[in-house]
Amino acid sequence: APVATDLVEDLVKPYPVKVKRKRAKHITVNDPDEIPPIEANVRSTPGIITTRGCCYAGCKGVVLGPITDVIHIVHGPIGCSYYAWMTRRNQADVPESEQDFLKYCFSTDMTTNEIVFGGEKKLAQAVREAYEIFHPKAIDIFSTCPVGLIGDDVHAVAREARKELKIPVFAFSCEGYKGVSQSAGHHIANNGLFKNVVGTEELPAEAKTNPFRVNMLGEYNIGGDAFEIERLLNACGIQLVATFSGNAQLAELAHSQDANLNLIQCHRSINYMATMMETKYGIPWLKVNFIGAEATAKTLRKIARYFGDDELTARVEIVIAEELAKVEPVRQAVRARVEGRPVMLFVGGSRSHHYQSLFRDMGMPVVTAGYEFAHRDDYEGYQVASTIKVDADSRNIEELTVEADPEHYRARKSPEELERLKASVDIADYKGMMPEMAKGAMVVDDISHHELEQLIETYHPALVCSGIKDKYVVEKMGIPCKQLHNYDYGGPYAGFRGAVNFYQEIDRMVNSPVWGFIPTPWEKQSA
Ligand code: SF4
Repeated sequence: APVATDLVEDLVKPYPVKVKRKRAKHITVNDPDEIPPIEANVRSTPGIITTRGCCYAGCKGVVLGPITDVIHIVHGPIGCSYYAWMTRRNQADVPESEQDFLKYCFSTDMTTNEIVFGGEKKLAQAVREAYEIFHPKAIDIFSTCPVGLIGDDVHAVAREARKELKIPVFAFSCEGYKGVSQSAGHHIANNGLFKNVVGTEELPAEAKTNPFRVNMLGEYNIGGDAFEIERLLNACGIQLVATFSGNAQLAELAHSQDANLNLIQCHRSINYMATMMETKYGIPWLKVNFIGAEATAKTLRKIARYFGDDELTARVEIVIAEELAKVEPVRQAVRARVEGRPVMLFVGGSRSHHYQSLFRDMGMPVVTAGYEFAHRDDYEGYQVASTIKVDADSRNIEELTVEADPEHYRARKSPEELERLKASVDIADYKGMMPEMAKGAMVVDDISHHELEQLIETYHPALVCSGIKDKYVVEKMGIPCKQLHNYDYGGPYAGFRGAVNFYQEIDRMVNSPVWGFIPTPWEKQSA
């Protein structure tokens, strides 16, 4: 294997001096025993071909967009709506009796007229029209780049509409230029959901009989992942109160404060919600991972340990045994065909870590990985979160001040119980990606096109995992590229059934004969 230390120097060599210095801080050689600091969540270098998106994408596209019975109106020119229209595969299974607006895209379609004279009137009219046609339970509004610049007050429009229509109408100032990536949008979305939705309803008494009540935070049901997680929780006798926000309806989120434990799948996009709910309502949170068969088993055991109930623990063990019995033969068969073949992972803000479990199941080493928009705590672990300095580019993202709710705060566990539990369950902690990566593996934050190309040439991986913008670039280099945002239109990959799907899919990709046909027969002859 190439020596990663020299690689850092090599990777940044072609850049101008200033860029070289800057990018070198985003690239590091891993050491799980002594995690090196990495620069993350700072602005991208202009012109470098980053894979990042914007704050609007993080707020509307990721966190709020999957809620099925709310009309999401995008206030802006048509592009932002159009490009985000059904392109993220957050699936839903909405009962016939309920409303589902997922297939639509709603826009105020701003034109020059609104830029010059302001767009508030058109927005108010759009909200009214949407209400008259669809009668939704709620409407939310998303600001795009020009909205902040021309000074439209989307929150005032929402306030007026709320009075007029008597339904929740709330707005998000998630202009695309805020922060440095999708990440700012997650934070803004968390704040808005927490202020306007969570705690506005109560879980009906008949739904409060099961003490093992959890919320799934940061699970967006891509390719049906949340369906599989729900199936497993049900089988174990754990009640899912709400999922933020795959296959979610507004009412679930509104009474999610009645759960007894928050489970975080995607730490980056929803950790704010978990800590705010802990402070206001007393709900502890656990970082979990339902990606990978071993990881799923570990997660279910962790939840059982938290609740500390013998019957639940026994049920969880039965489910794990039954499920693993089905997974094992497939895993062994695939492992024999893929073991030892190196993988590179460059995905948004959490999957580059989670999917390492699936590759571990198959014996495929991860030689290099990185995130588009994660922060240092996602790389290095939760303990560095308090030391991170917020820089000028992210300072305008609001930090809510939250206090214990005098009426609704209910400590789920006593401080002593929590302390005791901490010995066996990592409550309110996330270890990050780097401690689970091999020594000498490379970690690259906000990777550029040049860096990706050069890493592929250096490592000759059997597989690259990334997104749609990289996929065809990589495959033209003769290497399969698995999209880990949209799953190449497959899935689910979560839980036990998802693991089986994933093993088979990776086997098909890396062992496809097509890769052997790229050099022509006469090129092979002359070689
Ligand atoms: S950067 Fe601005 S214009 Fe582009 S998608 Fe985001 S909000 Fe829309």
